[in-house]
Amino acid sequence: MARYLTLYESGELAERVERARAALHDCRLCGWDCGIDRAEELGPCRTGLKAIVSTAYVHHGEERPLVVGGGSGAIFFANCDLRCQFCQTARWNIRGAGRDATPAQIASLMLSLQEKGARNINVVTPSHVAAQILDALLIAVGKGLRLPLVWNSGGYDSPQPLAVLDGVVDIYLPDMKYSDALMGRRMSAVRDYPRVNQAAVAEMHRQVGDLVRGDDGGAISGVLVRHLVMPGHLQNTFGVLDWIAERLGPNTYLSLMDQYRPAYRAFARDDINRPLHPDEFAQALAYARDKGLTRLDDHLLNTTLETESHG
Ligand code: SF4
Repeated sequence: MARYLTLYESGELAERVERARAALHDCRLCGWDCGIDRAEELGPCRTGLKAIVSTAYVHHGEERPLVVGGGSGAIFFANCDLRCQFCQTARWNIRGAGRDATPAQIASLMLSLQEKGARNINVVTPSHVAAQILDALLIAVGKGLRLPLVWNSGGYDSPQPLAVLDGVVDIYLPDMKYSDALMGRRMSAVRDYPRVNQAAVAEMHRQVGDLVRGDDGGAISGVLVRHLVMPGHLQNTFGVLDWIAERLGPNTYLSLMDQYRPAYRAFARDDINRPLHPDEFAQALAYARDKGLTRLDDHLLNTTLETESHG
């Protein structure tokens, strides 16, 4: 049963929606911590009171626990709180392509994805539109939505939205991009990425724990961490893996991703203007295993390397 149903039945979900809406007028929904009124001005996420949806479909290319038995019901929101120089979806997340969507329209998308057989609702790049998503969720649950909610974020989430999401989200799917703050600034134009990100992921883990999978291997609840290994920056990867192993523990489900390709502004940067070399990924994988991380999902090969006894 999706966790939000308990809050819906007690009336707490409606209260969370009110809290989230109020937060838009002193917005601290991500690590930018702007403190602005989004009815009056725009922050770095370039999003006011309305969410913009870029696209929505049943996605079969996510990690195996998210797609087994029906695919993941992905709703992609435009704009982002990060400015990744290598963004693969710059048209949506940097240039903001998409359509304004009311909460009722987003709720319709959720219900339509459920009807199409998706096994979860996967909100992609959700942090800056947490209020609008909760608003939509309340409507959709009233009309029969029952699928688990996946929070698929770049990992620059602040405590404010995470407090509102406690008991609402079933599966957190955060990126852990950088262990090096300078790299976060150079690659994604944000301050203090490791500090913000590590605090966010620790809180996500406190809320839902390690990833729990059903008999078919599909994710039921928990945290699934993503890390994209970047060319020429293995020390950054090692720092991320150190933190995961030491702080979250070896039972963490980790999607270690090798599909880096230069995109957007990456072609102009000497360090990241090439694909990842297979040997670099092999070193990252070996390091993860040395750290005791055995629940590894090789995203490119779509091969689950997980030791099933941890399931
Ligand atoms: S979501 Fe982040 S970037 Fe956007 S206004 Fe709020 S704090 Fe600023």
